[in-house]
Amino acid sequence: MNPDLNGKVSIVTGSTSGIGLAVANALAAAGSNIVINGLGSAEENEPVRKQVADDHGVNCIFVGANLIKPEGPAELVQAAVDEFGGIDILVNNAGMQYVAPVEEFPPEKWDAIIALNLSAAFHGMAKALPIMRERGWGRIISTASAHSLVASPYKAAYVSAKHGLYGLTKTIALECAADGVTVNCISPGYVWTPLVEEQIPDTMKARSLTRDEVINDVLLSAQPTKQFVTVEEVAGTVLYLCSDTARNVTGANMVLDGGWTAQ
Ligand code: NAD
Repeated sequence: MNPDLNGKVSIVTGSTSGIGLAVANALAAAGSNIVINGLGSAEENEPVRKQVADDHGVNCIFVGANLIKPEGPAELVQAAVDEFGGIDILVNNAGMQYVAPVEEFPPEKWDAIIALNLSAAFHGMAKALPIMRERGWGRIISTASAHSLVASPYKAAYVSAKHGLYGLTKTIALECAADGVTVNCISPGYVWTPLVEEQIPDTMKARSLTRDEVINDVLLSAQPTKQFVTVEEVAGTVLYLCSDTARNVTGANMVLDGGWTAQ
């Protein structure tokens, strides 16, 4: 099932940690050259860049474009063209969250989340698609969320952006359906990342709960399997979508949520 991506070029946004880093490693392990991206300087991100390149024997560059800015995604695509001559796989993964009731939700947080979690994918697709079309092959994959299908209170911007990302995915999938380019999104439930793990001790203290109670009754209350999704499961789904087996999978929302949205 694992594709041979030797000679391909992938951009993975938000790939200096968490899900994006696992996706970058999986694509590199399959042979793809990689453009990684995230916040921070080139110097700060050099250990990550070096790890991806050295572990898999591919070329990997870091581009620190801030994707909240509309021109950020174009910088990434231009860097891929300048360094590697084009782009074959675009993974729109960078995202952020803010939690507050709507009447207290800072308008600048709304703007930033819509810009990063939704508009950046639009800008990236618009720049990458013509190059993929010309090559007759391409894969555009966005990290959405269970929140592309269902809502939770106090997450107005995140839920709106992720629902929008699924709509954008379906629209662009139709626009390039006959061109050898597929466009899909992946919707994980709660994923086990350092960010989640680090919340556990504080929540145990704040609510006087055991570690297991925090995991099962707080973090995984919506996830019937009572298991976190792993970053490797998300990365494996990206590899599947890049394989020839998945050439007819387009406009799809690949849901990895332990049954959350089945309820
Ligand atoms: P993370 O916080 O570990 O990583 C976020 C990445 O995005 C980092 O590389 C960071 O540097 C980068 N980034 C942040 N702001 C940026 C900006 N303005 N410009 C460029 N890069 C920026 O996050 P994660 O948990 O791995 O989440 C990745 C994606 O998966 C997000 O879109 C998130 O919504 C989605 N997701 C996460 C979970 C989860 O439980 N962790 C569940 C469902 C969906």
